[in-house]
Amino acid sequence: MPSSFRLALAHHAGNLAGKVSRATGRGRGETLQGRVVLAVDSGALTKLSAGRDIVLVSGTNGKTTTAANLARILQDGTEEFVSTSKYGANMRAGIAAVLSTKPRQRLVVLECDELYLPEMYRQLQPKVVVLLNLSRDQLHRTGEVRKVAQLWKDTFTRDDVTLVIDRDDPFLEYAASAAGHVLRVSFGGRRHPDAATCPACARLIDWSAGDYRCECGLGSELAQVRGDQRLQGPGRNAVLAIEAARLMGAVVPIEVQQELTANAPDRTAEYTFGSHFVLVRLAKNPESWRGALGSVTCDEVILSVNARGIDGRDTSWLWDIDYSPLIGRRVICTGERRLDVAYRLHVQGAEVAVADTFDNAIALCSSPRVEAIASYTAYQDLAARDMGISTTIGRD
Ligand SMILES: [Zn+2]
Repeated sequence: MPSSFRLALAHHAGNLAGKVSRATGRGRGETLQGRVVLAVDSGALTKLSAGRDIVLVSGTNGKTTTAANLARILQDGTEEFVSTSKYGANMRAGIAAVLSTKPRQRLVVLECDELYLPEMYRQLQPKVVVLLNLSRDQLHRTGEVRKVAQLWKDTFTRDDVTLVIDRDDPFLEYAASAAGHVLRVSFGGRRHPDAATCPACARLIDWSAGDYRCECGLGSELAQVRGDQRLQGPGRNAVLAIEAARLMGAVVPIEVQQELTANAPDRTAEYTFGSHFVLVRLAKNPESWRGALGSVTCDEVILSVNARGIDGRDTSWLWDIDYSPLIGRRVICTGERRLDVAYRLHVQGAEVAVADTFDNAIALCSSPRVEAIASYTAYQDLAARDMGISTTIGRD
């Protein structure tokens, strides 16, 4: 069978499977569509990416939001349609579906899972790769940070790709160290919690000057772009998206840049429970927990942690987090792992209460404004209750 005919067949079979899947209510159809495309033509990814300008976005936190932001500003700034996943599909099948849906569209922005990035980099030949951050994720997911950084370093060796990285992350700096073109963005003033030792040579990293430097030379490359030090993770990711859009030829007006970096949302939702107004933040790994804890302003805080499905059963990473922002506040732990979290907080000297359900946790609160930090499924459970006034902002 000629290669172009096989690809055309894969494209039509995939589209049909996607439509059937949606029509029969079996989901969004993206994954099934991609699986069919790849089943009919195993070389579809390379063929579908030929002649197109592709940006890949990867990192531990903020991939979906950043890819969506980047697709939007690239589309507005080039006045050309951009292919991207509506649902944050970031593995082989989802990516195949995006590429085969409008195969003639030149511009493509794809979120990519950290462990799939090497394979996608080789098969799709992207023009730009945006690396947001690399920190410890849940243990069942991507494993050890150093392993991922090494995998990436071994991958990024070509000269015809530009990496856009947050240079303040030593793991990203290491991952980019063999790459031909790197656009380094620095925000300054942060210390990476997982990088006491150098990913390149294992010596102790010197963080004493408010920045990192290793004897082996890691950290000596200067950043071409300086970002605002006050930006939190979502704002920093937005700056990287803006730089990537520019590299792809987009004009990004200053007001759009300001709106993106100033309003970059964490994944949050707002609910009213009787007389209480509750702001819920999703936190799924140590870095997003640190971000969520650093944003807490209320006197009463609910922590809801499950260990189900996507949460991961092993929650030992909860011990890696510094909970000192909660000291002096009233903390109520709920969710399946409420006792684990309560014990961890007790060890750190926080005042803790325990409630068996979220509603009972709310009932223990006396102030009208309460904040909550929730694991994946705890967050989803709240969203699924459809409590009327709920605003979900952003995705991850
Ligand atoms: Zn070193």
